[in-house]
Amino acid sequence: MVKVLLTGGSGFIAAHVLDILLERGYDVVTTVRSEEKGQRILEAHPNLPKEKLSYVVVEDIAKDGAFDEAVKSDPPFDYVLHTASPFHFKFTDPVKEVLDPAIKGTTGILKAIKASAPTVKRVVVTSSFAAIINADNSVKVYDESVWNPVTWEEATGNDKGQTYRASKTFAERAAWEFVEKEKPNFDVATINPPLVFGPIAHHLSSLSSLNTSNERVRDLIQGKYKDGLPPTGVYLWVDVREVALAHVRAIEVAEAGGKRFFTAAGHFSNKQVADIVRETHPELASKLPENPVDDTPADVYQYNNTLVRQVLGIQFRSLKESVGDTVTSLIKLGALAA
Ligand code: NDP
Repeated sequence: MVKVLLTGGSGFIAAHVLDILLERGYDVVTTVRSEEKGQRILEAHPNLPKEKLSYVVVEDIAKDGAFDEAVKSDPPFDYVLHTASPFHFKFTDPVKEVLDPAIKGTTGILKAIKASAPTVKRVVVTSSFAAIINADNSVKVYDESVWNPVTWEEATGNDKGQTYRASKTFAERAAWEFVEKEKPNFDVATINPPLVFGPIAHHLSSLSSLNTSNERVRDLIQGKYKDGLPPTGVYLWVDVREVALAHVRAIEVAEAGGKRFFTAAGHFSNKQVADIVRETHPELASKLPENPVDDTPADVYQYNNTLVRQVLGIQFRSLKESVGDTVTSLIKLGALAA
């Protein structure tokens, strides 16, 4: 059996990765921050023997040696998928709460694998469009060759968005540098999604702990944007199910090694999201803004997702399906009762 270590199993994207891995017959060990989160994952997948699915607690990925024990397993791991990294703006210390876990979490797991898991053939790191985008809008077409030029000074300033984007940029750079310098027994691939929408497969303690990228859909259907939409900010999106599949394809496809994958499904704006909700969930019309304005710039950047389609074989679903399913999922979780 092929055995995979999946970090951050309690996360929005990781929950879908876990489901695809199990469907495809992989044995999975996932890391979570507490026993309680691990138990919830096991409860969501009843009737699976311990060899198929288990968890280990890694409380803080920023700590030295955090993954030293987690990477050891019997039978040993074949692949590692590293998704755990902070994605929220509720922090006060950019270094301790965001940059350290992202960067040290990535270098820490790579070091641990090199030292103690010689059977691992590939590590897939969840990076982001954040590691590609250029804040000055100088890039016309984004693809895997582009890097975010953000500096450490910008990363540690007052702009929380910059801190997050820098955390992803420096963490991904650190992964590629590690492979180049250390020449380990494994290769690396990165998945670089833009804003991720899609249904929730993980277990939220409350809707206030919703993953960051679905927050705007929750707020929209709760009527918080009735008087006007916030800026769209990032104009590219992808569905979580495609992002998850890309992670799994990245371990299955030999040529994926050594590559970044920019998993962009297409352009979107908050107005398009609001229009879709009006169409797929007409009963929510009273919560939506009357005449939303599309803030997409006329010269909005373009994207090239050829590599993802050709190498990983991913086909992207429509924004309408993704947003419609997100809303249905949020309603099931009680978004309208809140
Ligand atoms: P979530 O917040 O749902 O998942 C983040 C995961 O990382 C959680 O399991 C979280 O654990 C874990 N984590 C965060 N900080 C630490 C830490 N210090 N120690 C241990 N675990 C930690 O978000 P997503 O699923 O959206 O994000 C998953 C990955 O995808 C991240 O790497 C993110 O940067 C990337 N990404 C997400 C995009 C999006 O639009 N959603 C777009 C591009 C990239 P816990 O919940 O217990 O805190």
